[in-house]
Amino acid sequence: MHFKVELPDWVLEESAKLPEVMPTLESQMEAVIRFSKLNYEKDTGGPFAAGIFEKETGKRVVIGVNRVVPGNNSTAHAEIVTIAMAQAMLKTFDLGGPEMPNYRLVVNARPCAMCFGSIPWSGVRSLAFAACGEEVEKITGFDEGPIHPQWQQELRNRDIEVIEHVMAEQAYEVFREFANSGSPIYNGRGGDS
Ligand SMILES: [Zn+2]
Repeated sequence: MHFKVELPDWVLEESAKLPEVMPTLESQMEAVIRFSKLNYEKDTGGPFAAGIFEKETGKRVVIGVNRVVPGNNSTAHAEIVTIAMAQAMLKTFDLGGPEMPNYRLVVNARPCAMCFGSIPWSGVRSLAFAACGEEVEKITGFDEGPIHPQWQQELRNRDIEVIEHVMAEQAYEVFREFANSGSPIYNGRGGDS
């Protein structure tokens, strides 16, 4: 038995057009937000994308997208897919291992409860995100789950940098387009059901 998560072909095609080194956080986020839009437009998953980059140089490891619905996998959020892809490509379960550069996870929206939990396990040393969770829930109806109230501090206590609201307005614009598109909203069970 096994399960696998695959990135759609367009991700590889679009990634090949990007420079290998994307030195500014804005250039990284711009690509991630664009991939989040393409993912729902091409019907290959929800409007979420994430990238792993070397923190100091901006060298791109991988940009991944949400694959929940096409993969029949509730855990295939963009962050989980992207972390797993990077670890498979770099052949390590720990992106914070010895002799490795520091890695940054760049996401178009605040991690949900599950993805927040995956960050300390992943070994990344930095998280940057665009849209805040409450606003995404308001626009789209996605339930982001019970994230710890001091979640940013919990990451910082573990030596993981947190950079919030990078190009948030551009990210909200994609969520608004998604909400108006009539695409399905999938969710986990709410707390009262
Ligand atoms: Zn998530």
